[in-house]
Amino acid sequence: MKVTLVTEHARIKMKVAENGEFAESAEHRCPHCMEKPLRARGTGKRISSFDTYSAPAICYSCRREVGTLESKMKTLFGLEEDERVLRSGVRIY
Ligand SMILES: [Zn+2]
Repeated sequence: MKVTLVTEHARIKMKVAENGEFAESAEHRCPHCMEKPLRARGTGKRISSFDTYSAPAICYSCRREVGTLESKMKTLFGLEEDERVLRSGVRIY
């Protein structure tokens, strides 16, 4: 899964932590609390395009907003279609 943090000034490639709790970039720091590495957490994801989820991102330490996290998913039919298929359940005849 590819995760990008979109800020006013840059698009930063992020690495997702093992436990999936946050994404981090060793080369960047939080613009608010200056913590390095920059660790961002998504707060409620939504579908923003055919294969992309996006969520407002907050700093893992100071909890102030640092941008928007975007993650590209591998999907056959697009995320909306996939979610509809998952919700409807699988029928076996
Ligand atoms: Zn911070």
